[in-house]
Amino acid sequence: MFEVIDIKTSQRIEMVDITHRIEKIISKEGTENGICYLSVPHTTAGITINENADPTVSSDMTSKLTKLVPAGEDYAHSEGNSDSHIKSSIIGSTLTLIIDSGKLALGTWQGLYFYEFDGPRNRNLYVKVIKD
Ligand code: ZN
Repeated sequence: MFEVIDIKTSQRIEMVDITHRIEKIISKEGTENGICYLSVPHTTAGITINENADPTVSSDMTSKLTKLVPAGEDYAHSEGNSDSHIKSSIIGSTLTLIIDSGKLALGTWQGLYFYEFDGPRNRNLYVKVIKD
């Protein structure tokens, strides 16, 4: 059993802070200690941990990824979204997190981000909590 959360994105490339939604699932399940697995079931989106205090970190990430893997280049994939597939693989589609004393064991400035690369779309994120 795992939970599926819905994420609605509004731009082609967008970082959505999902930290509080994941913390809510952990507290709802009453998990004191354990592991939280997050998995993105899409090939043009990803998930990552990064700073959630200064929003320019997110905009720099997106700006650099767009320069590294530009859209509209001469890719073979006929759907026209090869850049999205490549960015998704660079960022990755799973995270494993420690739950300690009912909370995610994250650093002070860390947040969890769902990373859209081919939006806007309605997306899912799979969340599996395993108690100690
Ligand atoms: Zn494609």
